[in-house]
Amino acid sequence: MSYAKILSLQQFGLNAMPVELECRQSLHLPSLQILGIAQLQAKSMRERVLSALESSGFRVPARKIVIQVLPECLREGSQALDFAAAMVLLASEGIFSIERLHKIAVLGGLRLDGSLSPVVEALALPSFFQKQLFSSALLPYENSEVLKSAQLDGGGGFQSLKEAVDFLNRRIGRGKRREEVHRPSKNLNPNYLKIEQVEGHASAKQMLLAVAAGGHHSLLFGPRGVGKSFLASALPSILPPITVEEGQEISAVYAMSGETWEGERPFRAPHASISRGNLLGGLGKNKFGELSLSHGGVLYLDEVLEMDRSVLESLRTPIEEGELRLRRGDYHYRLPCRTTLLASANLCPCGLLGDSRHACQCSRAEIRHYRRRISSALLDRIDLYYPLHQGGELETCKASTAEFRELATTARASMIARQGKANSRLQGEEVFQVKAWSASAKALWADSCQSRGYSRRSSVALARVAITFSDLMAQGEVQDEHLYQALFFRSDPL
Ligand SMILES: [Zn+2]
Repeated sequence: MSYAKILSLQQFGLNAMPVELECRQSLHLPSLQILGIAQLQAKSMRERVLSALESSGFRVPARKIVIQVLPECLREGSQALDFAAAMVLLASEGIFSIERLHKIAVLGGLRLDGSLSPVVEALALPSFFQKQLFSSALLPYENSEVLKSAQLDGGGGFQSLKEAVDFLNRRIGRGKRREEVHRPSKNLNPNYLKIEQVEGHASAKQMLLAVAAGGHHSLLFGPRGVGKSFLASALPSILPPITVEEGQEISAVYAMSGETWEGERPFRAPHASISRGNLLGGLGKNKFGELSLSHGGVLYLDEVLEMDRSVLESLRTPIEEGELRLRRGDYHYRLPCRTTLLASANLCPCGLLGDSRHACQCSRAEIRHYRRRISSALLDRIDLYYPLHQGGELETCKASTAEFRELATTARASMIARQGKANSRLQGEEVFQVKAWSASAKALWADSCQSRGYSRRSSVALARVAITFSDLMAQGEVQDEHLYQALFFRSDPL
């Protein structure tokens, strides 16, 4: 056979569109030409394809080989067609039976050693499965999450070109099982600030413990210089270790964004001047924003009231849903962002309000205006608030990082075993379904919500946090004391 054709997907401007790759071999002087894409892209693709084929032990025939991408797109694209280009060449050689790729898309980047690298275009595949344009896909292992909505028989996730070919020739079963591949680091990064390095602040540390265990969004506020950022930077040291599944998702996000992931829960702390594009990402040059890069970890927003209000408000839906939906042309992309938002704020523009040693010069109107920079709708989505105050460093606190991490880990494990997710992800009625409440705790919850005039969202948030305190104390039901703790960490913030 000297001709083959396979399907793939390419980004056309803001649209992802199916493309065909044809490969024809002829008895002319040996060469490999790739047509239908931008020249520079074709040149680098050619090098990667040739090197990957050679590294994988395939012989490149000494003939004239032409690979044509249809429809043509001469704008600079990504590496998403590399894998398809190598596969169509192998198919034209008869290395595997092309019938096995009927309605199957082949998509992914190639490294010079023949291994596959994930591509963001894969996130558009589910909409093509729905429209039945493709029935399944051959993908880099890190992208194989998107195959959930596809027929799995024909496709799968693979580590390398060679593995995909072996699969098509039925020499191996479906791509390697996900859990065999990723091993998140179990040890604590010695560079993290330890909780005992922050003096005192016993209550604020108790809040961080609840945040670490339940993954709750939270806010620290107080005068400038009181130690908000210092305390926040101790949070990563007490987070529970990453599960295998979380590790796979995080590694896929980082691999696609081209950033290096160290194997720990991400802790991202962008500056307050961050733009919407850099925070949320898009599918252009900066594909993943800080929000997605903090997936599975913490997004720390220092001086949150200094942020552009519209940028800040854009977080509202994604932090609640744990995913970011982007619409590009006709297709929807879903980027994961199950992050824990930790924010900190001064109480006034000059930052001195609440400082007993210096007088704040701001007018009441300025202070009111400043605090309105965060909407009540966004505050509703924040589960815990705590006012840091001067003198907090004098509070006695014997908590150690090891002890806190252990507590957070045990509590998180009980949440996963009980409901398959952290308490921060509980919605609506779930808060009363997943765990038993004592009659008096439930009555206290109802009274508190009414007397404080809580919205439905805030009421659920209060219940979520009470459950986390109950889990931290390894109690079988939610009792009054857990609710009192939750109420303590929801004092009116701003
Ligand atoms: Zn002030």
